[in-house]
Amino acid sequence: MAEKSFKYVILGGGVSAGYAAREFAKQGVKPGELAIISKEAVAPYERPALSKAYLFPEGTARLPGFHVCVGSGGERLLPEWYKEKGIELILSTEIVRADIASKTLLSATGLIFKYQILVIATGSTVLRLTDFGVEGADAKNIFYLREIDDADKLVEAIKAKKNGKAVVVGGGYIGLELSAALKINNIDVSMVYPEPWCMPRLFTADIAAFYEGYYANKGIKIIKGTVAVGFTTNADGEVKEVKLKDGRTLEADIVVVGVGGRPLISLFKGQVAENKGGIETDDFFKTSADDVYAVGDVATFPMKLYREMRRVEHVDHARKSAEQAVKTIMATEGGKTVTGYDYLPYFYSRAFDLSWQFYGDNVGDTVLFGDNDLASATHKFGTYWIKDGKVVGVFLESGTPEENKAIAKVARVQPSVESLDVLKNEGLSFASKI
Ligand code: FAD
Repeated sequence: MAEKSFKYVILGGGVSAGYAAREFAKQGVKPGELAIISKEAVAPYERPALSKAYLFPEGTARLPGFHVCVGSGGERLLPEWYKEKGIELILSTEIVRADIASKTLLSATGLIFKYQILVIATGSTVLRLTDFGVEGADAKNIFYLREIDDADKLVEAIKAKKNGKAVVVGGGYIGLELSAALKINNIDVSMVYPEPWCMPRLFTADIAAFYEGYYANKGIKIIKGTVAVGFTTNADGEVKEVKLKDGRTLEADIVVVGVGGRPLISLFKGQVAENKGGIETDDFFKTSADDVYAVGDVATFPMKLYREMRRVEHVDHARKSAEQAVKTIMATEGGKTVTGYDYLPYFYSRAFDLSWQFYGDNVGDTVLFGDNDLASATHKFGTYWIKDGKVVGVFLESGTPEENKAIAKVARVQPSVESLDVLKNEGLSFASKI
């Protein structure tokens, strides 16, 4: 059997892998020492583009345009970059077995890879309605979105079903971004989700009311408090109708499902400690196994700011955790130390002409501020989260770069406030003073 050996192997070729490769290069990795093994066919790219500009009819994003690290304003790492650095990109290669004791990975086609140090960066996979046994969920034109292949299939369907109807199942990030993208493509969109409002894990009812109103004004129908329980198909096996639990039926040429994901850690079951559904790490992203690191979506790490172990499925953490792990690996070899990860949660989303950012923790009391009137030309509004008399989280729609910097600082500093009324009255200017 073919066998290849590397000093460092990054398993996975997504966001974390790309940022880890850049950091390895910065730290002077030598040609031939590092390999990235990915089941995707392309070099690491900025995954968030798939639910945004990748689907737009105009100003469409295509590779090589959004390879990492353009999403954070960095250099774009084209496939040639890896070649120049002597970093081996092993693409279209799925690892089906990992043996940490013998430091060996085995691919689906029987290739063996040996490593001295492994960085696990396998990310997440989507939850599928077929996993829950939903009737007809294997019909054609029911889509999920995780990898570029998924996005390409959706693009084809949007072209084939011009001016057709879509049902978007799920009211989270993917549901909201995909609904907007489909609408921009002139597709008639209905969204379905069981919760009382969209993005319930982050949004308050007030925040959600603005986005739901905005989407309704764009002509997107929102159906809450129910779920898809079945699909009917036409003679070609293509989805035709979505059956809802409340008895209603929606016509659909396209269905997009965004009902969550789960981290891909099964290769390492029983070989590394797990925590909260992910691989447990310390604040350097070292796992319980020697010479094995885990970064990005799969890592459950100490969130110092909140003195709690957490897993974060967002791109900013994918980038930063990868850099932290590589800095640690290289410093350790040089007999040096680095400071541990001290992450401030940062999430964002963009849809239509809206763009929001959130920093910190969404716990405690909330104060809504600013202009969330759907009729006004600007809709700069936000929310503070206050716990034990301190501001611990801030959400802001349509902030300028300076304003977003200011809310990030608030979430990091956690200033005390006399009363919620002070925040209500001062609004964004409270953040600008910190
Ligand atoms: P990934 O980027 O998912 O990379 C994992 C890689 O591992 C993939 O290449 C995969 O093919 C490979 N892999 C997995 N298993 C194997 C195996 N056994 N063998 C070989 N290769 C394997 N976050 C935000 O903060 N803002 C956003 O706007 C946003 N938008 C998003 C839009 C979409 C459509 C998606 C799917 C995610 C979005 N996210 C967003 C989340 C963000 O992209 C992820 O948190 C981030 O990509 C995680 O990086 P990662 O490297 O851990 O995993």
